[in-house]
Amino acid sequence: MSKYAYLSKIDKQIILAKNCTANDINKVFYCPDPNCNCEVKLVSYNSNKRKAHFRGNNHSENCIFYHSNLNDINEFDVTNFSPSNLLDIITKAKNRTNDNNFKTDTDKVNDQSDKKYINTIKALYYLAINYPVSYEINGYKISDLVCYKNTAHIYTKFIRGIKLVVCDFYYYNTDSNTIYFRYNNSIILKAVFDTSELFKKAQKDFYEKENVIIFANWDSSGGYSTANISNYKQLNIISGRDSSN
Ligand SMILES: [Zn+2]
Repeated sequence: MSKYAYLSKIDKQIILAKNCTANDINKVFYCPDPNCNCEVKLVSYNSNKRKAHFRGNNHSENCIFYHSNLNDINEFDVTNFSPSNLLDIITKAKNRTNDNNFKTDTDKVNDQSDKKYINTIKALYYLAINYPVSYEINGYKISDLVCYKNTAHIYTKFIRGIKLVVCDFYYYNTDSNTIYFRYNNSIILKAVFDTSELFKKAQKDFYEKENVIIFANWDSSGGYSTANISNYKQLNIISGRDSSN
């Protein structure tokens, strides 16, 4: 499911479900994941139960829309959202190195009845992937906030600033409390943990895992994009083949 689709897989022109007309109902569109060839169709057009969206039955297993929910920006209060505010909220939160349940964070967000807030990194990820990368959240472009498949053409050499990065485990160094991750097979990320407790927990939870998300203030030097990790909530895993392990 997605809130937007490609008109054609070649020129990647985007169409938003909310802008579709009755003429689009039986047309074939294309999944906006760059590595997915699924054809999608407009559903829930004019429904008063669900907002219009695109649905297809043959998403590839690694497609970002394979498990996608349909978080809507209008259900969120983003008036105070900024990357630095979010990093502040997360790094000041209580560290939970004993907690094994990664799902808690998003459940909490989604249980809030009135307005939802982007106060976890999963909330940011699952909201951001629903929109084209040029879309803005409270004035911040998604392409500046999230480094994932759909922004891989922008981040080819380094990552700098406060960003959420979707990456894969690479290797670790116990002596320096560091775990190395790979983004898009081109950028090596260095996550330096503030304490050996944080490092050990992460080493256990993310060893050889794919689809790890890290939200941090990145800097680049010596061929790496490096960030300090002071709170375990800066890391998580998103739905994918390896998430159930
Ligand atoms: Zn897909």
